[in-house]
Amino acid sequence: MEHICPICNQETKFTGDESSDRSSLYSYEDYGCQANMDGHSYIYRIVDGTLTYLKVRLNDESGAPLFLRVLYDQDIAEVWSKSGFGKKINIGKAFVPDFSDLDRLKNKIKLYMLLS
Ligand SMILES: [Zn+2]
Repeated sequence: MEHICPICNQETKFTGDESSDRSSLYSYEDYGCQANMDGHSYIYRIVDGTLTYLKVRLNDESGAPLFLRVLYDQDIAEVWSKSGFGKKINIGKAFVPDFSDLDRLKNKIKLYMLLS
């Protein structure tokens, strides 16, 4: 598996068990983009070679953060923003984030929040 942040194309770094839940029964690896450019973040968890968790922060044109979280093992995808008072909106497991067009992805997240 390639460990590349699709937002800035920099290599992501193993963050080990910094956010480790020590009561967890399974072993996992956490990775995150450490590029620290433009305030974006891209963190994910691999369990037995499978992506199980992804959390992304993007900034819209005004610099306001937009958040996206996918819990692959629970079939949940959520979006939220500060302007939405952090209320998480479940957009369902069918959502597949496309990082090849960030503006489109940001607009999609905003649209989901408008429609909620
Ligand atoms: Zn990045």
